[in-house]
Amino acid sequence: MTQGSLADSRPIVAADEPHALPGFDAVARLAANALAVPLVALLLVDGSAFWYTPPGHADSLRLDGALLAACRQAARRGVAEAVPDARNDTRFLPAGTDPAHAAIGFFACEPVFALNGQLLGALFAADRHPRLTLSAGERAALRDAAALAGAGVALRNYLDRTDPATGLPHRNAFFADLRAQLPGDDDTAWLVAIEAAPVARFHAFVRAMGHVYADALMRAVAARVQAWTSPGMQLYQVGTSRLAVLLSDPRDEPPPARLDALVARLREPIDCLGVPLTLQPGVGLLRVEAGELRGGDPLRRVMSASHAAQDSVPGWARYDHAQDERQRQEFLLVTELAAALSERTELELHYQPRVELANGRCVALEALARWRHPTLGAVPPGVFVPLAEQAGLMRALTDWVLDHGLAQLAAWLHAGLDVQLSLNVSSADLDATLQTRLATAAQRHAVPLTRLELEFTESTTMRHSDATRRHLAALREAGVGIAIDDFGIGYSNLDALRQMPASCLKIDQSLVRGLDASRHDAAVVRSMVVLAHELGFRVVMEGVETGRVLAAVRDMDCDEVQGFHIARPLPAADVADWLRSNRSAPLPRPADHPPG
Ligand code: C2E
Ligand code: CA
Ligand code: CA
Repeated sequence: MTQGSLADSRPIVAADEPHALPGFDAVARLAANALAVPLVALLLVDGSAFWYTPPGHADSLRLDGALLAACRQAARRGVAEAVPDARNDTRFLPAGTDPAHAAIGFFACEPVFALNGQLLGALFAADRHPRLTLSAGERAALRDAAALAGAGVALRNYLDRTDPATGLPHRNAFFADLRAQLPGDDDTAWLVAIEAAPVARFHAFVRAMGHVYADALMRAVAARVQAWTSPGMQLYQVGTSRLAVLLSDPRDEPPPARLDALVARLREPIDCLGVPLTLQPGVGLLRVEAGELRGGDPLRRVMSASHAAQDSVPGWARYDHAQDERQRQEFLLVTELAAALSERTELELHYQPRVELANGRCVALEALARWRHPTLGAVPPGVFVPLAEQAGLMRALTDWVLDHGLAQLAAWLHAGLDVQLSLNVSSADLDATLQTRLATAAQRHAVPLTRLELEFTESTTMRHSDATRRHLAALREAGVGIAIDDFGIGYSNLDALRQMPASCLKIDQSLVRGLDASRHDAAVVRSMVVLAHELGFRVVMEGVETGRVLAAVRDMDCDEVQGFHIARPLPAADVADWLRSNRSAPLPRPADHPPG
């Protein structure tokens, strides 16, 4: 069996990927059996063609050359025809062919009509051998098959425009209508797009309730939007949870009050087959110019506006090119980050020394991730770490940091350097598996867990306190140090802090930076240090940038300092040299650095 479609003389791919013709195979098989022919074909006046050849027929016949041209001509004429002996019919004979070598011996066709009587094309039966006649039964079979083929075309035309679940015209229809509304280069149109709910929430709803509910929900949303439209506006279903409206007036932007009204309507609670729901809709607005239909994607752009609007107070937003670009860049960056994580060539760790205040000796190195992007250059972790968090790449990043950092630590230990390694870990990593991941990496590189410390931000450690505490306690028991990073900018309560199985508190740079100048900051930090010591934590001052801050810190009985004044984060290759020079001249004294 073969079914295909042809548009004019182009290859067997029709424009806009129409649906295959529903039921054509069955209809053609019936006709081929009834007439005992090796080829049944359907040609439509829009140029598309479908054909069927029964498998294993002794005289195979192809729809090509002269036959295709003859069928096209007959399809446009729209009259029934039977040619029992077609060998002398010049329509089927390529010029100059001897009738003795004619490919077509028998030919019959029956016009195909739409339900409204419009001519759609014709159904053909052909054979290599001529016949004496065509029986009444055979004629009737071909006529019935043509009627059924007409029903199939009607169904295909419906499906080409309509989403069966909501009964609304869908994306193909949307683009067809948009193109029709913008015939001239200067024409414009206004589009409104509706995102019913945040995609993750919509999918969770489908998972929990099933597609029947999702379809009912979209019908209910569509009914609300439909009630908002005025005559001449057309509503489309453009995605599973997305609708679009093509506005009727191409010149005037819809006033804000109109869009407020749409959002208000969509925000009202919905009853979906007995399940009460409140949506978080986003409505986007875009003015499309005809030129943008070539190559541009107005639907993507208006959807990006509706997506952005979901989190906004008004719930609707005009398309904003700058914001769209930012989001696209972020998306591209995330995909490139995923690639960088699997290829492992663009990422690197730098190491910033932490030194003991009392004697200036380096006690630990903090590993800080670096991404050398091939075209953007150095992308700071302040940019890519949050992106990795949003995109679910954090575990991959942490695994890379663990593997890479521990390999480096093993090399330093092997070379006789007495250092510890401190690693930054995000909240996405803090679960029961972290200990195993860490232990596996430590085993792989043969480094003792007691050489390692994990840094969690204050906000991470203070969240989900019970489970968090258990996981941290398990790590502490295994000998791993736990530092609370960026301390002092979150909202720790004392009790939670007291129960935290941490070993170290790193006071955030923002508090340390002003220590030399602000008596208030100094008083706050001083009391933090006292408190931390009372709870049994070592205290690290982060972001010591100047000699004056270092001098102020010396006053405070803290344990370690870290910052540009002591050392910037260093590439791995520079660490050994730095450690050697640090041994001979431990900490820069205030006198070495003029105030400032
Ligand atoms: P953080 O953990 O607080 O790391 C300290 C940051 O402050 C580093 O920025 C470091 O270069 C910078 N810094 C150190 N001393 C000074 C100073 O004296 N003055 C100033 N102004 N800055 C100083 P970096 O490397 O850009 O990292 C930023 C943040 O990104 C880190 O903050 C950490 O939260 C995160 N990060 C970096 N690497 C990783 C990683 O491998 N995993 C995770 N989860 N987060 C990471
Ligand atoms: Ca840190
Ligand atoms: Ca920090």
